[in-house]
Amino acid sequence: MNRIDLHTHSCCSDGSCTPTELVELAAAAGVGAIALTDHDTVAGIPEFLEAGRRHPEVETVPGVELSTMFSNRELHMVGLFIDPETPVLTAFLEEMREGRRRRNEQIRLKLNTLGFPVTWDDPAFAGASSDSASIGRPHFARALMHKYGFPTMQSVFDRLLKRGCAAYVPRELPDPARAIEVIHAAGGIAVWAHPVYRERNERAWAKRIMRRFSPLGLDAVEGYYSMFGPQETALVLELAGLYHLAVSGGSDFHGANSPNIQLGSGAGGLLVPPELLNGLKARCVARRAAVDKPGLP
Ligand code: AMP
Ligand code: MN
Ligand code: MN
Ligand code: MN
Repeated sequence: MNRIDLHTHSCCSDGSCTPTELVELAAAAGVGAIALTDHDTVAGIPEFLEAGRRHPEVETVPGVELSTMFSNRELHMVGLFIDPETPVLTAFLEEMREGRRRRNEQIRLKLNTLGFPVTWDDPAFAGASSDSASIGRPHFARALMHKYGFPTMQSVFDRLLKRGCAAYVPRELPDPARAIEVIHAAGGIAVWAHPVYRERNERAWAKRIMRRFSPLGLDAVEGYYSMFGPQETALVLELAGLYHLAVSGGSDFHGANSPNIQLGSGAGGLLVPPELLNGLKARCVARRAAVDKPGLP
């Protein structure tokens, strides 16, 4: 195994590949372990694990990505090695998706007022009526791209959907401590995703979050990420050492929905060392002993 990728999205949230396709891409790219970490849903996990059984050369790690809010900023927690059938987790995810449904309706109304009507039967929202689908702004971006000729999804975000724009609607998000608790209840470990993502003053922010949430059960941080250069990785690894956190890494692959990011290699220079898996699994074994969910991940 020469590389791993512990952060990817399927079409069960805002990626464009099926869970099976993700495993096939991993096999073709020589990615030895891949985690499926859809936003607010575990609907893709059974198919993902099934595909993993057909590709024993790829280790499949069940995961999820939870958005949280702290100090008026979004902070994303990836859960790895989760048991997707844990009732505490499934109830939490249902609550998150219900919040999304309310917000999506508000976004639709705003777009209507702004002269960009979209309807739920647009192909971009395929599956939106299913309870397990995690529909969000990227689906709106795709619908608007097709219907109104925006050149890229990014251009729709910049014109309408990102914070500060006319069709932006904030989500009601939980505290990171709650997300950590839910991930632990599901037998998983909590990884702070892209700790220096689209933010300034990264060092002070990253230190503040790790200092606060490490005693509250944060297990790891993403030190390897598509948008990181050597400096970001060095910063995150240094702080991980300081706060006794394990290190994870992944591409945040979304398929055609972020065309510049490849599975396993990100924007080209990403290489998540396979050795990281051992440290993450060791954390997981320790956590599971504490929540009475024994067994190796
Ligand atoms: P949502 O969960 O509905 O708020 O959508 C968040 C997702 O939209 C993220 O996971 C990204 O995939 C994408 N996204 C968020 N902000 C931006 C942005 N400024 N530009 C492009 N994509 C974005
Ligand atoms: Mn996304
Ligand atoms: Mn994220
Ligand atoms: Mn992600």
